[in-house]
Amino acid sequence: MTFALRATDGAARRGTLRLAHGDVETPAFMPVGTAATVKALTPDDLRAFDARIILANTYHLWLRPGRETIAELGGLHAFMSWDRNILTDSGGFQVFSLESRRVLTDDGVRFRSHLDGSEHEFTPENVVGFQEALGVDVAMALDVCVKLPATKAEVDESVRLTTLWARRCAAARTREATALFGIVQGGLDERARARSAAELAALELPGYAIGGLSVGESRDDLYRMTRFTAALLPEAKPRYLMGVGTVRDLIAAIDGGVDMFDCVYPTRCGRNGRALTRAGDLNIRSATYVRDARPIDPSCACAVCATYTRAYVAHLFRADEMLGPRLLSYHNLAMLAQLMSEARAAIENGTWGAFRDANAAHRV
Ligand SMILES: [Zn+2]
Repeated sequence: MTFALRATDGAARRGTLRLAHGDVETPAFMPVGTAATVKALTPDDLRAFDARIILANTYHLWLRPGRETIAELGGLHAFMSWDRNILTDSGGFQVFSLESRRVLTDDGVRFRSHLDGSEHEFTPENVVGFQEALGVDVAMALDVCVKLPATKAEVDESVRLTTLWARRCAAARTREATALFGIVQGGLDERARARSAAELAALELPGYAIGGLSVGESRDDLYRMTRFTAALLPEAKPRYLMGVGTVRDLIAAIDGGVDMFDCVYPTRCGRNGRALTRAGDLNIRSATYVRDARPIDPSCACAVCATYTRAYVAHLFRADEMLGPRLLSYHNLAMLAQLMSEARAAIENGTWGAFRDANAAHRV
């Protein structure tokens, strides 16, 4: 893996991340394919709006269909027929969302499956082993995410374990083509964030994520901590903010120096009738659109906006037709891909400030 920083404008960065399955131009938004599928979309759809990397989920794939099945069928790329890059998260975030079903020790975390109650354990070593067995391009280290608000002791303990586990993840690596990213924790505490970033940077990992944000804190806190943490990370390595996917949040995070993002927001919205447009999100179920002959977003160049009207998509949702969620999921991801492409051009051309200001007040 290599990362080339091509241009900067203020703190905003324009780069190219070279991975085993091709180049990823950054800033980049990664569509989420939790269970080895970006819900309702095919790999051809993803290629049509030039997605270069998607995200899949260790926790979910561990439980179903499991490591052996995927490995036997040639790894995750072959299994899901996706020939571009895949990043898997470590499963830490999902396990910590289980709360009552988990037991945390220095060794790892034991938990019960949300599917059938069966017992499992994640350790730094087996989580890296799992992601390598899947053959993914980027693996995330196992981390401890604290729920906010958190006490100082809880935040300090999550930073301690996250560093300990990142060291063990780095030592457990065996596969050159899978790049391991560390995850900075520290809640909303600048001192804890600084410690986490410094301890992880000392491991000289190929990339770093900012974790533990976008978990219910205020937008001011999200933006402040993102900017603060991004500035602490090594300049030459890619920076990935986990769980952010609204236009306004993406613009603010790029402005703070982040390169990569993922979020279920665009596809979840797509399934629920919410369209992301450059003029703000709109609810296609609203009576306003029943006879609206315009495309979902008149400024969007995607295949859905070139082909269908708001009235038709509104009809699909009202008739409970499965094409409705599919078309909106496609448009929402394609729209974010265009936003990222325009952001990259603005950073390259030195016009980032104007682009940011034109999009920063985006209605969500
Ligand atoms: Zn569109």
